[in-house]
Amino acid sequence: MRLPTDTGDWLSPNVDEQKAIELIRTAIDSGVNYIDTAYPYHNGNSEIIVGKALRNGYREKVHLATKCPSWLMETTDAFDRILDEQLKKLQTDSVDFYLIHALNKIWWHDLILKNHILSRAEAALKDGRIKHLGFSFHDQSEVFHEILNGYDGWSFCQIQYNYMNTNTQAGTRGLKAAAEKGLAVVIMEPLLGGRLANPPKVIKTLLDNAPGKPSAADLALQWLWDQPEVSVVLSGMSNMKQLQENLSSASHSSANSLTPAQRALIAQAQKIYAERTQIPCTKCSYCQPCPNGVNIPFCFEIYNDAFLHEDMATARMWYEIFLGNGARGKNADACIGCRDCESRCPQKIPISEWMPKVHEFLSAPAA
Ligand code: SF4
Ligand code: SF4
Repeated sequence: MRLPTDTGDWLSPNVDEQKAIELIRTAIDSGVNYIDTAYPYHNGNSEIIVGKALRNGYREKVHLATKCPSWLMETTDAFDRILDEQLKKLQTDSVDFYLIHALNKIWWHDLILKNHILSRAEAALKDGRIKHLGFSFHDQSEVFHEILNGYDGWSFCQIQYNYMNTNTQAGTRGLKAAAEKGLAVVIMEPLLGGRLANPPKVIKTLLDNAPGKPSAADLALQWLWDQPEVSVVLSGMSNMKQLQENLSSASHSSANSLTPAQRALIAQAQKIYAERTQIPCTKCSYCQPCPNGVNIPFCFEIYNDAFLHEDMATARMWYEIFLGNGARGKNADACIGCRDCESRCPQKIPISEWMPKVHEFLSAPAA
């Protein structure tokens, strides 16, 4: 997802192919054995470049993961058409780990279940085109449990998880439930899209003054590897420096290895982040559904994140991508101020007053 591009933008289709192949092969030569890609990454070019990188004997050295684009499963036949296209792009006969991509409530019910996609996936498991079937997830906690328990054929799942997302999406509860059910759990966004690697100044100062001056990225990664339920941590790397840093972190990681000092530092960082929260939304979703379709907790989450991480550009991008296409509900602009939601909010947040402010801020052009 984060291969080197001409502009440094991970959405760009213009991947620097030579650099990307060198990066992937250096990683594999250094012991990395799990490569994750997906149909839409780099506008379809990620799978092609991974396929090229895995030539010359590299394919046999890795577990290869790619994903079925849920949003394109509008017919049952779409599954095989796209899987076969992916195998061709990846220059392989089989994918080791195949995920139904970015599942949310709407896509799970209206596309995957309705169009019998799982029966096509089972056929692909049988004929060997895929070796293990799983799903990646972006929605509220209850939906995670519905999908986890709604099908017996999952052997793994992929969740967004890091020390700032213990109660977001699947969260710690989802991680433990999946592991208890016997699923391997793959972690994405371990550094929150790089934001935990570049924390606000106050956290940087905290780490600079701690014994051994731990790096923010290393601390966040060790927090994940410490948890025995975590099977694989995916950290997107765009250059050799990031690769070398991650290799160094991985080389001194293991389950149950965090020291009391490291735990204390993480607790302090979590507290600082909590103090910077603008809207005291706990993402409980009691306010949902909004009669006008506004995804209230998600709008608040993106707005809070902008201040937490001092990263307005990323927040504005998520607002446009996730709410702009309607897949996760409508954005704050759809609020008509009816206040239907407010009596259900345990935090007594004046939701109707916040919505215009949230929309004005998140729809403003990036500076
Ligand atoms: S006040 Fe806005 S967000 Fe709340 S229910 Fe009405 S339209 Fe939806
Ligand atoms: S009910 Fe209140 S706290 Fe809960 S998700 Fe809605 S706005 Fe947030």
